[in-house]
Amino acid sequence: MPSINFRHEGRECVSRAKVLLAQSDDHALRYAALELRMAMEALIYDRMSAYKAEVPKSIYETWQPKQVLKRLLEIDPHADAVATISIGVEDTPGLPAKEMTVLGTDTPLSFKNLKSYYDAFGSYLHKPTIKQLEAGNSGDMARLRQRCDEVVAILDVVLASAVHNSTMGNFSTCACFRCGKDIKRRITKADGDTFPVTCPECEALHIVERQGDQYLWKADTKVVPCANSPCDGGLHLWPDEIVSGQYFECEKCKQGNVLALSVRPVELPKEEPAETT
Ligand SMILES: [Zn+2]
Ligand SMILES: [Zn+2]
Repeated sequence: MPSINFRHEGRECVSRAKVLLAQSDDHALRYAALELRMAMEALIYDRMSAYKAEVPKSIYETWQPKQVLKRLLEIDPHADAVATISIGVEDTPGLPAKEMTVLGTDTPLSFKNLKSYYDAFGSYLHKPTIKQLEAGNSGDMARLRQRCDEVVAILDVVLASAVHNSTMGNFSTCACFRCGKDIKRRITKADGDTFPVTCPECEALHIVERQGDQYLWKADTKVVPCANSPCDGGLHLWPDEIVSGQYFECEKCKQGNVLALSVRPVELPKEEPAETT
């Protein structure tokens, strides 16, 4: 993920919005709403950067902040929760410290506030449709101003957080069996004894198995037998590599193979005879 100071960009957007709101002009008001929408986007992208070791790269293509935050909440159910961060020295390892020092409170933009305001602003950033004009509904600017003031108050709190992007949790880490990059997986209460983990870098699927306090990582590969006779070797292929036309070299005989679709006859399942009484 590129190193962009989204938090700084969000702060700049809010500053510009405040200047526009102070003009008491409906045209400037629309631009204030646009700046505030962009501030919300910047703050969600900033939040995403705290999870860069955990999110797949494909999420960077998602620009809709609600979709991004939904993905972060799947990874960490507390991704949008207010958290107070304290530190202390443990007298006994494993037991909470008796004296804790509060570092500050992290107030991220919540999904509830994002959902309430982001879409609401969207309808003011387009020309009203003919149907809306005929219905006399060209936008309630007083309502928009009120919403803008509310969002400024919310974003001021988010931007004033003494600490930000803290992501505490229990993790299991492993080098990806395909690309070698470290994968960091947050362990949540929702995880069963086995759960899938996708590499953020190359999207290779792994299966993680809980064994007591340990986690055993396995590559979710399928063995495809070599087609060169009389070789009995083969290659471990990832599900996304099993496509028609894929070339691979046998690990044993070093000969080439190409995957191909085939059609073969199968017997229809026999119907059970109906029971008679
Ligand atoms: Zn990988
Ligand atoms: Zn072979």
